[in-house]
Amino acid sequence: EAPPETRSGRSAALRARMEEQLLGARFRYLNQQLYTGSSRDAARLFRTDPAAFHLYHRGFERQVRRWPERPVQRIVRYLRRRPASLVVADFGCGDCTLAASVRNQVHCFDLVPLCPRVTVCDMAEVPLAAESVDVAVFCLALMGTNLQEILEEANRVLKLGGTLLVAEVASRFEDTRAFLKAMAHLGFRTVSKDLSSSYFYLLEFAKTGPARPGPASRLRLRPCLYKRR
Ligand code: SAH
Repeated sequence: EAPPETRSGRSAALRARMEEQLLGARFRYLNQQLYTGSSRDAARLFRTDPAAFHLYHRGFERQVRRWPERPVQRIVRYLRRRPASLVVADFGCGDCTLAASVRNQVHCFDLVPLCPRVTVCDMAEVPLAAESVDVAVFCLALMGTNLQEILEEANRVLKLGGTLLVAEVASRFEDTRAFLKAMAHLGFRTVSKDLSSSYFYLLEFAKTGPARPGPASRLRLRPCLYKRR
């Protein structure tokens, strides 16, 4: 590599900076698409452009590395305190950190396989039998605008009394109480909520029964849009 004070060194540095900026811009654009479209749109997007998915993940990694704690580590800790016999479904598993960190059987679902354990599917329709899992996890993964459909799918695969864990970016919640009320409509009782981090909230629910019919009003999360840096 050319030393930075030489002309070719300077132009290499400039090129690297421009590539970085371009990557950042593409990440923000993809991220916006994921948060403003349905989960089906996301599935179509990544099916037609798998390279976009890898780019998205590099950007995602770069974002969460800035956080003092990764939400997935909180989920890992939670599961380690409970029996390893519990069957887990990880909706939007990313690089399968969760599955790799616990002894439980973990069904990993994502749109593109970042690792071999992933079952590729849209999280609104996972290939699991009804009432077959003890714990359903959405760790920074409630991205589609069809939130209700996605959470109804989690309800379907969860056993009665089973646990739903949601870790989401704090700023996405516009009215947490209204959100929790909407969750009750979908058959989820709030067991605990940790709103202490300014980065993400961690919510624990128990399945009380099937989702009630009709729209769960005020089941809304703001899109998580990153600013240009
Ligand atoms: N849970 C992981 C990854 C979070 S990033 C972690 O905490 O590290 C969000 C993940 O959700 C991405 O991997 C993205 O591809 C996935 N995702 C988004 N929409 C999805 C959909 N409709 N179906 C399945 N996975 C989806």
